[in-house]
Amino acid sequence: MNYDMPLFRPPSEADSLIFQITLGCSHNKCLFCYMYKTKKFRVREFEDIKADVREMAKAYPKTTRIFLADGDALAADTEFLIKVLDLINDKFPYLERMSVYAGPSNLLAKSVDELREFKKRKLDILYLGIETGNDELLKKIKKGATSAEIIEGSKKAIDAGLRMSTIILLGLGGVEGSFSHAKDSAKVVNAIDPQFLACLTLMLGQFTEVYENKIMGGNFKSINKQQSLQELRWFVEDINLKDCMFSTQHASNYLPIGGHFPEDKERILKLIDGALNEKVKLRSEWMRGL
Ligand code: SF4
Repeated sequence: MNYDMPLFRPPSEADSLIFQITLGCSHNKCLFCYMYKTKKFRVREFEDIKADVREMAKAYPKTTRIFLADGDALAADTEFLIKVLDLINDKFPYLERMSVYAGPSNLLAKSVDELREFKKRKLDILYLGIETGNDELLKKIKKGATSAEIIEGSKKAIDAGLRMSTIILLGLGGVEGSFSHAKDSAKVVNAIDPQFLACLTLMLGQFTEVYENKIMGGNFKSINKQQSLQELRWFVEDINLKDCMFSTQHASNYLPIGGHFPEDKERILKLIDGALNEKVKLRSEWMRGL
């Protein structure tokens, strides 16, 4: 099987077999994201997917986990997706679960009943980049959805029995927008009540200047290490979730933490406070992104 590169998957899907159902991202407009800028979105031909599935079923018949790429395979129409899910279920008898990246517009376009049909066919986890709960910022970064739409789409998925793995992008609001980004993001996450929550930190590297001056419009100043920890503190102190695995272990973060809400909240806050008071060792700048 040949992949159409570049290929991305969430870190937690490192051991999953990957099938590309769609190529690129149907939205592809978020200003901070360069993942699929070299690709034009399209749904792959069913016959091509079928050939990949058959080949991999022979090579790895005991596969238990499958990730459906690229950026938002859920953008394909429901009938097509059901056909693909049925094919995969048929060829992989040991399959336990499938997962996929989902954009807010994908979720809004599907009904709860359609999402239930996917769940019946072992689609289990949807990875959703909320990025921020702040509407002004969502508009500025061209996420293509409001906070209310992100909540609505996510709740539909949860109602259908799917598990939501949500992502907040620290640093997105810059220095000026840091507090409102943290507080509004906590509100949206609380309203969704996802099963997984991860924080990543915006990494611009050589693009920092272009992003600050051209893309975000001149008044934007990126947060530093200390400000990133403060933003995380503002966010976590407002989080109230019933049953959620929380992680800042992504390589972009300065302080890798893992825990479960609600019972680990105080421990997580203490760790962040320790880092703010320079009592906890942080990931070195050169280790970020590795
Ligand atoms: S929806 Fe996701 S993959 Fe698509 S442009 Fe935005 S961040 Fe990138």
